[in-house]
Amino acid sequence: MSYFGNLSQKQYKYSINLLSRIGFTDSKLRYEYLRNINSLNSNFYEHLGYSKPECIDELLKEVEIKKNLHELKIKKPDNDYITATDIASFNFCPASYAISRSFEIESDKNEIRKFLGAEFHETLRLIDKSIPDGYSDEQLYDPDILENEKVTKIKNCELIFSGHTTDMVLFKNEEENFVGQPDYIFKDPNGDFFVVEEKFKFLNVRHKEIENHAIGMKDFYRKNPDLWEENETIKRNKNSFFSNHILQVESYIQYIKEYPIKYGVLIYWYYDFHGGKNNVPGFGNVAKVHSVTVKVIKRNDHLSLLRETKNSITKLVSNEELEFDQKVNPIKCAACSVNKYCGHKTNNFKDLTMPYSKKYLELKKVGFYD
Ligand code: SF4
Repeated sequence: MSYFGNLSQKQYKYSINLLSRIGFTDSKLRYEYLRNINSLNSNFYEHLGYSKPECIDELLKEVEIKKNLHELKIKKPDNDYITATDIASFNFCPASYAISRSFEIESDKNEIRKFLGAEFHETLRLIDKSIPDGYSDEQLYDPDILENEKVTKIKNCELIFSGHTTDMVLFKNEEENFVGQPDYIFKDPNGDFFVVEEKFKFLNVRHKEIENHAIGMKDFYRKNPDLWEENETIKRNKNSFFSNHILQVESYIQYIKEYPIKYGVLIYWYYDFHGGKNNVPGFGNVAKVHSVTVKVIKRNDHLSLLRETKNSITKLVSNEELEFDQKVNPIKCAACSVNKYCGHKTNNFKDLTMPYSKKYLELKKVGFYD
């Protein structure tokens, strides 16, 4: 019988014990982190065919990493430039940036997410999609996406540059110590150059059904306020764009020298799995894009935050200790690709070093829960 999500009482207590060893002392934060890693596993990995409480495996892996800190592989700095991805990663969370620049991160299921993201990028991208054999555009996109006015407007512009080709082209700005590569550069009918960055986000199609129903079923939702609230949350989420993605685009606008970039466009494609068995990847299923949101980013709108972020990165890589003043968010931490290598998610540290200090990763001695 389940006691906490899909966890039995024993499994729940065991998870709490593991989280305490990892360093969570604040019971509310510990509870929220567990709730989020558990729900993330059930929502997303269910689609990958996992059914057992994967969150316990995740916590055990983290404890294992932290028991063997001497085995952590230290990363050699690959270059002295600050990349657009560094800027996005630092803005997402400075600890995440320091961790991913300090250690070789072992692949795990978060890597499956990344892999799926990379694969979709090639399969479903705005321009030059590599549609798998035997599939058509219509099978990979909802019809209203193919006819979306904003997407069509972008596609009708003159394509100047397309990233993700076999030849790696990096735009380099020596003065700003910056390298980066946007997904596309276009020229609009007014002769203005703009960059485009596209991101892929998993969103269960059930949410789209709720959203569609909400249009014609106001009375129903008045009687079911929980579903109405869920629908409103989805709408809010879909219309909010992450600041790290916005900064990534601003960095291209500011630092690409080869073209006079006037503005940028951020595209979020929302996908789900369709076609075969159980709506999971593989088994004849393919990712299908069912919604899209588009944001235009004007030059200079985020310049001060961009400069601040770049300065902080420069300080951190020059071995200056930074203050870690982020408010820890258990939803974000549960989805973070380096969370098993992180001590900051416990909210116990107010400083940050580069390389990421192993002092943040020490396990705590705790009593046995039964
Ligand atoms: S787990 Fe949380 S605090 Fe740690 S790096 Fe990721 S987002 Fe930052």
